[in-house]
Amino acid sequence: MFDKILIANRGEIALRVLRACKELGIATVAVHSTADEDAMHVRLADESVCIGPPPAKDSYLNIPALLAACEITGADAVHPGYGFLSENARFAEILAEHNVHFIGPRPEHIRLMGDKIAAKRAAEQLGIPTVPGSEGGIGSDEEARRLAGETGFPVMVKAAAGGGGRGMKVIRSEADLPSALAMARAESKAAFGDDTLYLEKYLERPRHIEIQVLGDGKGRAIHLGERDCSLQRRHQKVWEEGPSPALNTTARDAIGETVARAMREIKYLGVGTVEFLYDDGAFHFIEMNTRIQVEHPVTEMITGIDLILEQIRVAAGNDLQLGQDGVKFHGHAIECRINAENAVSFRPSPGKIIHYHPPGGLGVRVDSAVYHGYAIPPFYDSLVGKLIVHGKTRVECLMRLRRALDEFVIDGVETNLPLFRALAQEKDIIDGDYHIHWLEEFLARGGLAS
Ligand code: ADP
Repeated sequence: MFDKILIANRGEIALRVLRACKELGIATVAVHSTADEDAMHVRLADESVCIGPPPAKDSYLNIPALLAACEITGADAVHPGYGFLSENARFAEILAEHNVHFIGPRPEHIRLMGDKIAAKRAAEQLGIPTVPGSEGGIGSDEEARRLAGETGFPVMVKAAAGGGGRGMKVIRSEADLPSALAMARAESKAAFGDDTLYLEKYLERPRHIEIQVLGDGKGRAIHLGERDCSLQRRHQKVWEEGPSPALNTTARDAIGETVARAMREIKYLGVGTVEFLYDDGAFHFIEMNTRIQVEHPVTEMITGIDLILEQIRVAAGNDLQLGQDGVKFHGHAIECRINAENAVSFRPSPGKIIHYHPPGGLGVRVDSAVYHGYAIPPFYDSLVGKLIVHGKTRVECLMRLRRALDEFVIDGVETNLPLFRALAQEKDIIDGDYHIHWLEEFLARGGLAS
């Protein structure tokens, strides 16, 4: 096992990793920018190192500073959390060159899944169903026109290097094609330094359903069921739940086993999420994230399995102890991403928290790194924390969620708590009857104001 883990992240995920390390008896090193001197992860870690000024590129993305921090503290492993360097294959390689373990998959798998065209091709070869569309990148506008014609409008063009919904455009007719391609290319070039696009059938009303996997890199791999993340705004997840209201046990076992088999075949190491659009009873692969995800607590609540702990164990070379038969699903969990932002305009609202009272009680979990008097810096994402609620049934989970949301007090900054309070009362949500555009349609018709 590792002796000392450096956590190359901040906020709630840094704290989440720290908790797992403490339970395993592993010493922890926090790193922080000058804007995060007072952050909770810094306070709770055994040691901390300042790695640079506030902008992420100078601190949390600063590889030389992180290497120096490993060397100064003698950390033998790095946990990257999510975001930042978590899907940077080069970072994993550089750490290995310096005899520091990267807690994540092998660089070749990070690289493969980071290139969305290569990932889609790999998925097809592994027997995972994908969205119909181009075989690889699209070259000229003429080729795009031909492919779109074959696939049938509407189509979607996406950035091969994509992430966070950038470089994606829906194209409804041939006339819109040239301008949409130009916009998607420019956006992709600006965000990722690469303007390769690919094209796929645009699915009108699918659900976003993803499968959590865990492998030991030696050919043992299991799935831990699904999360339904269909409630999104601008392709960003807002509300996640598991199990999906749209799946039954047979469908879950079938897709779960397909994915687990693929992970066994490639000898996948660590945690990962295979994302699908689910439309008309069929799954279509869109991408794989080779890291822990924001919404991992949903799976932890319904399986009772600590994903970060398992992630650290397998990264240290331990065999996967859990077999598929050992994974049992209990009840229902919902996660709400509480952001410091205006609930209507979504404008970020950094600043000082003057009152903070998180909800508690049976089945209520809050993963957050804020505290009374903490000032949310303006430099990073606006996540204040995650409220995760568990119940024996979905009905009980929703009842508990409404109660927990009522109890939650965060004063001094604006938050999207009013949005969640409204969602938890909506008939479609209560019925589990929603798709990836539901939330934007709800907001467009002024659902929150009414
Ligand atoms: P990113 O890596 O940028 O997050 P994804 O491929 O994961 O991009 O897609 C993000 C979201 O975009 C999906 O959850 C879904 O809402 C939407 N999306 C992606 N592909 C399609 C498609 N073919 N049809 C309809 N919606 C899509």
